[in-house]
Amino acid sequence: MTTARLPLASRTTDLVGSVIDSSTSLLAKQQHDIVRFAMGSPAPDAVPAHVLRELAATELDRPDAYDYGASEGDPRLREALLAELRGTTDETSPERVLITAGGMQGLDLAFKLFVDPGDLVVVESPTYTNGSATAMSYQAQLLEVPVDDEGMQVDRMEEMVEQAGRAPKAIYAIPTFQNPSGASMSLERRRRLIELTQRWGSLLIDDDPYGRLRFAGEDVPSLHELADGDPLVLSVRTFSKIMAPGLRVGWVDADPSLQQLLINAKQAMDTCTNLPLQRLIAAFLEGGHLREHLATQRAAYRERKVAMQEALTEHFSGEARWTDPEGGFFLWVTFGDEVDTEALFEQALADGVAFIPGNAFSPSKFFPNALRLCFASSEPDRIREGVARLRTAVDNMGKL
Ligand code: PMP
Repeated sequence: MTTARLPLASRTTDLVGSVIDSSTSLLAKQQHDIVRFAMGSPAPDAVPAHVLRELAATELDRPDAYDYGASEGDPRLREALLAELRGTTDETSPERVLITAGGMQGLDLAFKLFVDPGDLVVVESPTYTNGSATAMSYQAQLLEVPVDDEGMQVDRMEEMVEQAGRAPKAIYAIPTFQNPSGASMSLERRRRLIELTQRWGSLLIDDDPYGRLRFAGEDVPSLHELADGDPLVLSVRTFSKIMAPGLRVGWVDADPSLQQLLINAKQAMDTCTNLPLQRLIAAFLEGGHLREHLATQRAAYRERKVAMQEALTEHFSGEARWTDPEGGFFLWVTFGDEVDTEALFEQALADGVAFIPGNAFSPSKFFPNALRLCFASSEPDRIREGVARLRTAVDNMGKL
């Protein structure tokens, strides 16, 4: 269908969409059995549906749960959340918190408030597709800074910004168990990142949906904690990975001076976040279920990551390399230059396994021979089956 005769806004040329989200619809249409390493979702068996059902019987049986809610979030959820975060690296105070429709709305609000067309925005490379897409939707000019085993290469960022000759308006970082690489930024780099943010007067967007899903290694303070109330740091959080993504509830933690602007922007967007689900999450937190749930999930994800790494070693040793995350959902696999993972995607789908090709995570398409695998969604036996199918797909491509 052509849009040539429609009076579209110029910003629509920068609406690039999300390969990740589109894969949900693509996979739903497939009739054959597919091992799903594509979406970053907790496993269906990892969703605490039985607890939620019991809580829903009371919470959703009250007509007041179906009204418009407060734009800054339902008071009950706000209170339960603040209590839940007390003593964690994300501890905060009421005047800093705004409940959002998932982490994505937090990212949208952050870029909306700070980015004008043409502004320079630093993103990690690779980065979370939808994060860079949101920056692009506000017509940012992106600077892709490479990520290694210790997360974003902050020294490299400094050099690249100097070369660009102007300070970035915003820096978008996923510091812990990064999507897609699984890498975590070292404490030293986190400190340096905050220093540079302060020197440049940029906004630092601290997007950390996986931080509470650590299953190995030592805790590292969040950027939110290290920033110690610096107004330049805005943190985006979500219940999507620690509970379930279909809830579409998250929160932003920002300087109190931004609260009214955030509310105004939200009121111009969706008025308020889904109230029944906020109530359900509040009840889940009040009952102490989240901590219990996280402990079970961490153990399961550790086992799944190990199963995936062992299967990769069995099938791809010497032909590909992959990361070793200490938490979160993802492994990043890099093949030799001869493998084109976008072409492999089609073959793999036919052979019964789905992943996200590396180029989805880079606006400049720097990763044609890499791919992202989500180990969180499948049980170990399914993971072994999926990696074996990936081997078959690579063989069927006639590569390697
Ligand atoms: N940021 C990152 C790094 C993510 O991985 C995701 C989800 N894949 C989000 C933000 C968006 O979270 P939500 O689903 O809550 O909108």
